[in-house]
Amino acid sequence: MVTHAFINGAAHPIEGADELEVRDPGDGSLVGTIPEAGTRGIDAAVEAARAAFPAWWATPAGERGKLVAKVADAIEAATDELAPMLTAEQGKPLRESRLELHRCVETLRHYAGLSLNIRGTSVSDLDTGTRGMTLSRPLGVVGAIVPWNFPTTLLANKLGPAFVTGNTVVAKPDETTPFVTLRLAEIAHAAGLPAGVFNVVPGSGEVTGQALASHPDVRKIAFTGSTPVGKHIMRTAADHLKRVTLELGGSDPLIILDDADVDAAISAASMGRFFNCGQACLAIKRVYADASIAEQVAQGIAEKAGRLTLGHGTTKGTQLGPLHSQEGRATIAKQLEDAVASGGEVLAGGGVPEGEVYDRGWFHEPTVVWNPSHDSAVSVDETFGPLLPVWPVDGLDDAIARANASPFGLGSSVWTNDLGRAMAAAERIDAGYTWVNSRTKVYDELPFGGLKESGYGKEHGEEALRYYTEVKSVVFRS
Ligand code: NAD
Repeated sequence: MVTHAFINGAAHPIEGADELEVRDPGDGSLVGTIPEAGTRGIDAAVEAARAAFPAWWATPAGERGKLVAKVADAIEAATDELAPMLTAEQGKPLRESRLELHRCVETLRHYAGLSLNIRGTSVSDLDTGTRGMTLSRPLGVVGAIVPWNFPTTLLANKLGPAFVTGNTVVAKPDETTPFVTLRLAEIAHAAGLPAGVFNVVPGSGEVTGQALASHPDVRKIAFTGSTPVGKHIMRTAADHLKRVTLELGGSDPLIILDDADVDAAISAASMGRFFNCGQACLAIKRVYADASIAEQVAQGIAEKAGRLTLGHGTTKGTQLGPLHSQEGRATIAKQLEDAVASGGEVLAGGGVPEGEVYDRGWFHEPTVVWNPSHDSAVSVDETFGPLLPVWPVDGLDDAIARANASPFGLGSSVWTNDLGRAMAAAERIDAGYTWVNSRTKVYDELPFGGLKESGYGKEHGEEALRYYTEVKSVVFRS
């Protein structure tokens, strides 16, 4: 695959641009190349989005919603084409690619349904003969910058609320996962989305992403990615007082108390850690189990980890694909080394699997490490791969203190059958989400966004509409 940018409803070549290679993380083969679209690509896309904005804003919200619903239907109809493309560039098993595309479709449908809820308020008696009202206005051109771990759902979280509120979008996918995003834009256009409403510009973060974040005509940057880059985006956006939403890194704790359904909690921890090869912002990254059950919990997760089938994403039966990159795997190996050096004991996995199939991709065994030091890297930093530390704790207060002793505050889980302790945990854990006795599933209906170093602003829920609109006040005197 050799592609262009997608601007103003058509493929847009970037003459003379450097080419970036995209490789399959499961076997190293070349998937295709993209141009480094850079400032030229971003300028053309922002101009197209700016030109399309007035007519899109003037389109009734309900009509915009119907178009977004049509786009969702068209993406769903293209799942058989898109899923293998996603697996090739991202590495995840085909089954997970299909699930991701399903979530992308559902999110767009959710916002299509909310299109009729975009409204202001009124005050009938501000003063004698004076009434007031608020209008909800779109921001204009929105820049959407997303990472490689869930390229389609993380984009849908931005496209859905941006489109139904009347904004136009320039999206910059990660340089390693550009093809599905470019295809989504073609599909959306073919489904009836007007030219210029959804543009995609491929390229690296440092060059093309930076050009988008610093463009004076972009009114908002909706960013998902790492905390350091999120902070950089916020600083860059400050130059033009752009709005920002930042969905950043996490180190989600899962607490299991002594009265919990231990088997269910073990399943949730295993699923929550190893899905997408552990490369999810909301993956379970730290387990704290009451000392009376902690060893049982750690052994239970280790057993499940040991049973997972590793393989290329297209191989039938694969449950765990490769990591997305060589650097990602090297970081996990280093974090594990540090955990072991600090006193941790490896209960499952521990290294690169052996075999010809695994030599070609960035595979790492699903790994469980018991009781490393609380100041080791797996405790302090984000672990973005199939590595799970488990620690014993002394009851609820100790568990909450450990959970909160992290710079991150994205998600969190607690397993207990005591309603009072569950509520105390939900109230006291510093995180944007707490799941009680539940797998870490994100719902379109509920706002999602991290505290502390995990983010700024919310996506999902009706709440997200607020982040794509400005409120304007109007006073009427008669
Ligand atoms: P990253 O920050 O390196 O890259 C994310 C995106 O930003 C990419 O498109 C990249 O090209 C772009 N980018 C990089 N430098 C840029 C710059 N200077 N200007 C503009 N754009 C730039 O993130 P990553 O490491 O590839 O992704 C993984 C991280 O994302 C993890 O920390 C993970 O937790 C986080 N994440 C968070 C959420 C959430 O919703 N909170 C969801 C998924 C991933």
